[in-house]
Amino acid sequence: MSSVPKDTPTIEYAQIAVRLKQNIKDKVEIAAKAEGVSIPEWVRIAIEMRLKTINSCQNCGTINDKDAIFCKKCGQPLTKEEIGPVN
Ligand SMILES: [Zn+2]
Repeated sequence: MSSVPKDTPTIEYAQIAVRLKQNIKDKVEIAAKAEGVSIPEWVRIAIEMRLKTINSCQNCGTINDKDAIFCKKCGQPLTKEEIGPVN
C-alpha cells in the first residue's frame, strides 16, 4: 500500500475519467443527463453513496464490519450518517 499524502488534492472528474472505459464514460454521461446534474456532480454523488455503504468510525476513521455497532479500534458507537438538516 502506498501512503496517502497529507494534503490530498481534490480529485477532479477529468482525473478519474482517464481511467474509465469509453462505454462507462458514455453511461455516466447518459445518467448525469437523465438526472439533470453535471458529470462531475454525478460522480461526486456516486462516490458519496458508495462511501455511505462503508461502516467507518466517525471518531477514528477505522473501517468496521458492515453490521458492527461499535468501532473495533476505539470502541465508539458507530452511527449512520444522517441525511438532512441537523436540529
Ligand atoms: Zn473508532
